[in-house]
Amino acid sequence: MPLGNMRANGVRMLAVWCSGCGCGHHRVIDVEQYGDDVPVPWFGPRMRCGHLGADARPNWQERAPPSLFGVRGS
Ligand SMILES: [Zn+2]
Repeated sequence: MPLGNMRANGVRMLAVWCSGCGCGHHRVIDVEQYGDDVPVPWFGPRMRCGHLGADARPNWQERAPPSLFGVRGS
């Protein structure tokens, strides 16, 4: 999914999880300065925190109702 598609769905931020075993490092990044044609997975390897890779996804929580917070599946 490119950023343009993500924005069309009302999401402006990316949620990134480190793939390091037991790390669980998570952060939400502002991708405002990147173009609509940049694919979401492109950010994964660039957002790692010293471990081998990270997983980038649209920050769907931005548009989820409060009742859905905290019940994201694994
Ligand atoms: Zn990590």
